[in-house]
Amino acid sequence: MTPQDARNPSRPAALPAVPSEPPVTPMSMQTLYGIAVSPGVAIGPALVLDPRGPRLPIRAIAPDGIAAELDRLDRGLVAARGEAEAAESSARQRLGPEYADILAAHAQMVGDPTLRNNARTRIERERISAEHAVSEILEAHAARLESLSDPYLAARAADVRDIERRILGQLSGKHRPAVMDHLGGPTVIFAHDLSPSETADLDPQRVLGFATEAGGRASHTAIVAEALEIPAVVGLGRFLDRARQSRQAIIDGDEGLVVLDPDAETLESYRRAAVERAARFKALAGLTSLPARTLDGTLVELWGNIEFPAEAAACNEFGALGVALYRTEFLYLNQTRPPSEQEQFEAYVKVVKSLGGHPITIRTLDLGADKLASYQKAGYDEPNPALGLRSLRLSLRNPVLFRTQLRAILRASAFGDVRVMFPLVTTLAEFREARSLLEDVAAELRAEGVAIRDKISVGIMVEVPAAAIMADQLAKEVDFFSIGTNDLIQYTLAVDRTNESLADIYSAADPAVLRLMAMVVDAAQAHGIPVSVCGTIGGEPLYTMLLLGMGLLQLSMPPHQLPEVKQLIRGIRLEQARAVAQKALRLETSTAVLELLHEALQSALPEERRTVARSKSRGEIKAS
Ligand code: PEP
Ligand code: MG
Repeated sequence: MTPQDARNPSRPAALPAVPSEPPVTPMSMQTLYGIAVSPGVAIGPALVLDPRGPRLPIRAIAPDGIAAELDRLDRGLVAARGEAEAAESSARQRLGPEYADILAAHAQMVGDPTLRNNARTRIERERISAEHAVSEILEAHAARLESLSDPYLAARAADVRDIERRILGQLSGKHRPAVMDHLGGPTVIFAHDLSPSETADLDPQRVLGFATEAGGRASHTAIVAEALEIPAVVGLGRFLDRARQSRQAIIDGDEGLVVLDPDAETLESYRRAAVERAARFKALAGLTSLPARTLDGTLVELWGNIEFPAEAAACNEFGALGVALYRTEFLYLNQTRPPSEQEQFEAYVKVVKSLGGHPITIRTLDLGADKLASYQKAGYDEPNPALGLRSLRLSLRNPVLFRTQLRAILRASAFGDVRVMFPLVTTLAEFREARSLLEDVAAELRAEGVAIRDKISVGIMVEVPAAAIMADQLAKEVDFFSIGTNDLIQYTLAVDRTNESLADIYSAADPAVLRLMAMVVDAAQAHGIPVSVCGTIGGEPLYTMLLLGMGLLQLSMPPHQLPEVKQLIRGIRLEQARAVAQKALRLETSTAVLELLHEALQSALPEERRTVARSKSRGEIKAS
């Protein structure tokens, strides 16, 4: 009733009029930048999944209710473990062992006696509910992980929260709705974070793509998204409030972009690119069994880079000649202790066997700097970790750790063409020390009667300017070089490879980097040893002509990048590539080199591909 009506009670009270709908003002387009973790483009209606629900209210337990609460805790844990095991076996069928193993680890953590004991202590001591005890313990654990500087370990917080939700669901008897329950038709999903098991449950037919505020390149969520071929971008920072108001979105998993409420022109260009991309991939599939031979007959070797044993299958699928870089530190990163010799041996043999006779280069531990295992953290506090005790230096200072790995590698060598590569070699003395340790371990194994391969190639990564400058000396003693451009750029240009704000300086196209690479190639050629590139640019079409023209005819890359690089190689002549390299090596700035490379790529691509050639190489934005 308005004051007017109150004064004239005879007048019927007017109901406030239903306000007319405000005119729909379309939100303006907004582009957000994150980390590309699963390639492809998704366009569709957007749905924001609510972030984690409110914290649990504290429910005090009466002294005589404690026994019942402890019992409830046990029943909840058992049920949650059963649920995690069921999820594991379903993932094993749908996705394969690598992904199922993630869920197996979840099941194991649910059954961890420490979790149960800690929760029991809290219930007894603080008289709180089982839900509350579990939540406090796991939330503290997740927060601790998140605070670590190592992105891999920080990403494990998502796994811990996943476990927490599972247990709370069982304790409360309420099953949290699965992500898929929120969806109607095909949708683009936005969330604060998605746990690995939520991701594993996604139906690629209905989830066109997803983007999250949290997350990093090494998260299990990212790995699973790629396996399901769902385009994904993570690590966008806070954007859900804005996304809640958007109707339509584009997720560009190649460039790490999210476009909210795209305008008609942007939509059209992405739609066109999607059609072209699909056609291109179809055409590329036919290349798998063909050689990467230039039009004038030069054969280029294309190899795979892997981090997990299960990726060996993709190397076979995309026609890699073998694995030229197996980053073994990933075996150590998600562990609470270093893997045993037997565990490592089994992982290496698994890769060797799945490559069916193709060679594999096992890189020894490259831990330290941004790749720290949890058990390394204590007492590891260096002012400049990237210049500190990392990689081969760390292995040499920890002979027990190093010898254990070398024993596992050498034992695996009995099963196939295994080669050994030392990372971050800086001086000749360092290489000699590492090789002599390897020889020592080989002699030890032979004395024990353990079978190992007769002759094992031993090479080094050239990723420090000192090694590039000394390449002519090193080439006399090593069996091969592999240029690790990711680190070589970082150390040549004094730019932290993980610092996004310096991405414009971090460039493989910098003339200083190119000159160092040329020195390495010259030294390798003069001493007749193979030289390859295993840094990110090895799989970047933008750099392919430059590398070939510089004499780098062995490239290694994540397996799914092989077809595109192969297609480009099959459409060019080596003399074309040489002309590009000669020109590039005379230029003064990275900008000039990049312009040249873009032009060269455009002219090398078939007409229909030119418009979709990416304007910026992933390697220019961030190294892996
Ligand atoms: C490199 O530095 O180029 C390289 C391949 O090693 P990582 O990226 O693992 O440091
Ligand atoms: Mg490196």
